[in-house]
Amino acid sequence: MSSSKTQRLSCPLCQGTTFQRKITTYPMRTFDGRQINIGRVAVQECDHCHHLIPTKAGCEKISRCMATMAQRFAD
Ligand SMILES: [Zn+2]
Repeated sequence: MSSSKTQRLSCPLCQGTTFQRKITTYPMRTFDGRQINIGRVAVQECDHCHHLIPTKAGCEKISRCMATMAQRFAD
């Protein structure tokens, strides 16, 4: 196991650099404009504007969910 340092994030909205790690429900918009909520996604929440940035693991979970959704709609 290599101990890689956490990359310094900056918020795309307010350029804030302080975040809280949390597990939360992450709202996503599907290709057809519907909003879905993905449960228990790992994110970093901006201290200033509360913008949610999924972590690497969070992103993977989101893409898995989106793939499942796409399959369901294609059926
Ligand atoms: Zn922010």
